[in-house]
Amino acid sequence: MKKVDPIIKEFSKPFIKDIGRVLSAIKRYDRIVVFRHLMPDYDALGTQMGLATWIKDNFPNKEVHVVGDNHVTFTPRLFPVMDELPESWFKEPFLAIIVDVGNEKRIADPRFKKAKFKIKIDHHPDVEHWGNISIVNTAAAAASEIVVSALLNMKGNYVLSKDAASYFYIALVGDSGRFQYSSTSAHTFAIAGELIKSNIELSKIYQNMYLKKIDDLKVTAYILNHFHVSEKGVAYYVLDSNIQKELNITTERGKENVNLFSNIEGINAWCSITQDDNPKEPCWRISIRSKEKAINGVAAMFGGGGHAQASGAKIDTIDELPKFIAALDELF
Ligand code: AMP
Repeated sequence: MKKVDPIIKEFSKPFIKDIGRVLSAIKRYDRIVVFRHLMPDYDALGTQMGLATWIKDNFPNKEVHVVGDNHVTFTPRLFPVMDELPESWFKEPFLAIIVDVGNEKRIADPRFKKAKFKIKIDHHPDVEHWGNISIVNTAAAAASEIVVSALLNMKGNYVLSKDAASYFYIALVGDSGRFQYSSTSAHTFAIAGELIKSNIELSKIYQNMYLKKIDDLKVTAYILNHFHVSEKGVAYYVLDSNIQKELNITTERGKENVNLFSNIEGINAWCSITQDDNPKEPCWRISIRSKEKAINGVAAMFGGGGHAQASGAKIDTIDELPKFIAALDELF
């Protein structure tokens, strides 16, 4: 019998039957696709790639794919380009494993609907129940924490390769805010410890994750010259389409500076507000982070959701911004 760290065993105990069913499903299907949420972050991409790599490493005869939108800066620096699968591929039976996303609307490729069998593994609040198997634990700092815990608790001797472990580590570091958020637990560190045993190169991973270019400093300079702080210590900056063009950045890049305000005395929460001109859904995207208080309730009031200390929301017009900041101010 392989030895599993007692903390990792305990964490996955409530799901142990489902973990057995996940392994059976992986063994049963020769065609597998791993899905995750739209506009992916470190956790979405890291968990997706980590799991796909683990399946390929341990079941080399299976056809395993990853689908969804590529990231403006993480692809191909941190993660490979996603697979492009024709419609015809989805006509034959396949298994869909969907990670790091709670609501169906946010799944990055709608063709998950065509899967014969669906597995959901997530750490967002379980507001929508779906999937033939659903493993949801909102206490986890990252979706990768749940997935790696499940893989380690599976019966059998499976390898956790350096590549798979590196992806999972990026996911864990990303969604725990480098082990800073209150969701970080002894289990989070136990999982990090297991990943490190796969000989991942820590300093290389961090350098790659947080790599910046000289031009990025100009964006930072703009934000430092134009941010606002509300009466109750909510810091925020607004990047409209014109300034994004001037700074030569995308909407997604605009939010990457949000944590500039993370360790500032008197600042309780901090947000980026970036205009998205996409004609499909023109809006202002908001990334919200918080020192202590849970901000996901406010995010849910403004068309979003997420975690206690890191959430996303959106408003249709900039006129709604004062209402949004006032809702955050109410918390403090
Ligand atoms: P972001 O600010 O976009 O990096 O998002 C922070 C966190 O909130 C991530 O874990 C997202 O998955 C989550 N999140 C963002 N937008 C939403 C949404 N509309 N519904 C649920 N969760 C979200």
